[in-house]
Amino acid sequence: MPENVIIIGSGCAGLTAAIYAARANLAPLVITGQEIGGQIALTNEVENYPGFPDGITGPELVALMQKQAEKFGARIEIDFVTDVNLKTHPFQVKTSNGVSHEAISVIVATGASPRQLEVPGEKELMGRGVSYCATCDGFFFRGKAIAVVGGGDSALQEGLFLTRFGSKVSVIHRRDSLRAQPILQDRARENPKMDFVWNSVVKEIKGDGTVKTLVLENTRDGALSEMPAQGVFVYVGHTPNTELFKGQLEMNAEGFIRVDEYLRTNIPGVFAAGEAHDHHFKQAVVAAGYGCMAAMEAEKFLAEWEHAQKAEGSNQ
Ligand code: NAP
Repeated sequence: MPENVIIIGSGCAGLTAAIYAARANLAPLVITGQEIGGQIALTNEVENYPGFPDGITGPELVALMQKQAEKFGARIEIDFVTDVNLKTHPFQVKTSNGVSHEAISVIVATGASPRQLEVPGEKELMGRGVSYCATCDGFFFRGKAIAVVGGGDSALQEGLFLTRFGSKVSVIHRRDSLRAQPILQDRARENPKMDFVWNSVVKEIKGDGTVKTLVLENTRDGALSEMPAQGVFVYVGHTPNTELFKGQLEMNAEGFIRVDEYLRTNIPGVFAAGEAHDHHFKQAVVAAGYGCMAAMEAEKFLAEWEHAQKAEGSNQ
């Protein structure tokens, strides 16, 4: 028997879709991706998710959503989708554990991954001073000089978290004004451990087994300089995790899936929710809202599909 709905991804969008689909008695199957929780699981402090006036950690929020989805009958499999065929129906979904599933409807909630700088030294020193997750790696930089690259909310929020560990945290930004929300800018400017390196981009990360210095280029005059740092945390935006669907689902040039106002993709029965399609809001609560919408639409699609199947059966 094919699954009613397979939800690919387990961030805020995927787990919210699971809660709604499970409460609609669809017994959804969630295939988590490498790890459960997506980006929010890598966030230390979540202060703007409604219902948590004192904030909540990302992993705690994920654990609560998972518990809520499972309570209503969602099945959550820690596995990674390696191949999909959406050109046939029921749809086919294959995973890294060698399992092949069929599904009447699919919700793509694969989210986005941190973008890399793509400079020499970055890949070589990844996990040896280069990181994309302060929550995961901040602890290793106790008393060390830390650089954070980027000028958005992530750079400042995670940079502030890193001040708990580092001797100082230098935010390297390519312009002279920040993109981050004012409350984070105020906190960063007031924090004695934080400083800013304006109008600068990282051209190279140098090290000898671990990160030692960053080569910076001044974006105004092109001057090069070297800055010592033992840790560099990169927060320069995200790329949607949609490679798997290329050639099947319509996307824009950056790889965000095209959906209509009901989160329908170009293939009936396939919906996209969260940062796999949302290139504008990129908020946990918005992703959760999209997850809810996609599940409601999948439920409607399933009801219509079952109705059509019955009608076809009675005509034969
Ligand atoms: P973002 O808002 O896209 O910011 C990326 C930053 O990196 C920008 O400052 C950008 O510079 C810079 N950048 C991009 N490419 C670069 C490159 N090649 N070299 C150097 N710098 C580069 O990404 P984000 O901070 O990860 O935030 C993503 C979304 O999540 C946003 O919508 C944000 O509001 C949300 N978010 C919210 C919270 C919160 O509410 N507390 C926390 C984290 C994230 P420019 O400014 O010059 O473009």
